[in-house]
Amino acid sequence: MPLKKFKSGTSHVGIIQLVSTSFHLYFFIITIKRSDMNTRRKFIKTFASSAFAIPMAVQAGTGIIAPEERILPQEKVLRVALMGLGSYAGRVADAMQACKRAKITGLISGTPAKLKSWQTKYGVPEKNCYNYENFDQIKSNPEIDAVYVITPNALHRDQVIRIAKAGKHVICEKPMGINAKEGEAMVQACKDANVKLLIGYRMHFEPKTLEIVRMRSNNELGKILFFQGLSGFRIGDPGQWRLKKDLAGGGAMMDIGIYSVNGARYMVGEEPVWVTAQETKTDPQKFKEGVDETITFQLGFPGGAIASCLSTYSMNNLDKFFLNGDKGFGELQPATGYGPIMGRTHKGELTHPHVTHQTVQMDEMAAIILDNKKAIVPVDGEEGLKDLKIIDAIYQAVRSGQKVTLKL
Ligand code: NAD
Repeated sequence: MPLKKFKSGTSHVGIIQLVSTSFHLYFFIITIKRSDMNTRRKFIKTFASSAFAIPMAVQAGTGIIAPEERILPQEKVLRVALMGLGSYAGRVADAMQACKRAKITGLISGTPAKLKSWQTKYGVPEKNCYNYENFDQIKSNPEIDAVYVITPNALHRDQVIRIAKAGKHVICEKPMGINAKEGEAMVQACKDANVKLLIGYRMHFEPKTLEIVRMRSNNELGKILFFQGLSGFRIGDPGQWRLKKDLAGGGAMMDIGIYSVNGARYMVGEEPVWVTAQETKTDPQKFKEGVDETITFQLGFPGGAIASCLSTYSMNNLDKFFLNGDKGFGELQPATGYGPIMGRTHKGELTHPHVTHQTVQMDEMAAIILDNKKAIVPVDGEEGLKDLKIIDAIYQAVRSGQKVTLKL
């Protein structure tokens, strides 16, 4: 049981309280041992709900962390409102049914019928349901800790800023906004409001991905020389928001190319210092001005590695990461789909079990928000902003035909 150190100025009353509490604690632990409470979870639950928690709560001024800070956070559940009840939100909502640390307690949608059916399906009370006009009222709703924004890209900035102003933590889908200027405003708004901003980078918690990241950071691949990222699919319905610049902010790069942008960074383990890029368009009707169909881009890293990547809306079977070092390699294919992710390295097949990405992501994000846990590969607003700075530079390189220098 981790008790925090005394402050040097602990009062006599504080010491008496502490001795008395320690005495209680000793007997409490003995009781637990006797009743065979062999799991930490059972121990914490029993402790937190026992009458013993009460004397601990009066430790203010003794230097001991109050029990609600020391023990309960590990058991606290992040209460999340989902905003934008579309196809990806449906996947997140289903995956969240298996979460241990996160649950859906609110819904935000512009469609009353959708609110009704989701309310019934996920057991959300009417009083926790909002629309896009009135969702600022979550400010006074104690049953919502965070809002997960899963709407079209160009809506993210204003929605995230409004949520931050309502004093709630934000999880925002990728891309966090449609350019770096938006990302900066979002990061600043969350800082000002003292709330956390996380981006829905589910691959940052995927076991095979993390194994290659681990091997690379342990120097098992040697000096990193090359990364290849292929991200693409054939997009269908020409009327969808993903093909409208005002809602998508761009084309394939914003939606799927971002996986290679982001992947290049966490696989190589450095921030790129330059970018070059080329665009090709085979269907200017479907992919209008400002909506990119296919972009190839190259990134240069300070350690000398280069990345060569493809982002496209017009080819299927493109979901691959390949990382090459002078001692070995790591490969993921598929690398970013919903899984199972498949991977191998120079040492053989990666056999880590498949996990539902969104379940793990939401449990981990709950720990990041509630317990200040640090993700192995960060998922905060700054991380999302770096990707947008690179995407801005990719578009600039396409327009100018020049190498663009990056300072991330
Ligand atoms: P979708 O079209 O299925 O859902 C979007 C939702 O936003 C719909 O419910 C729609 O009604 C709502 N909406 C609110 N205002 C709208 C407006 N003005 N115009 C259009 N729709 C509006 O899209 P989706 O596939 O769920 O994507 C939503 C977000 O999630 C995007 O940012 C996307 O990049 C992201 N996404 C992430 C992943 C991932 O794996 N992390 C996967 C898919 C989508």
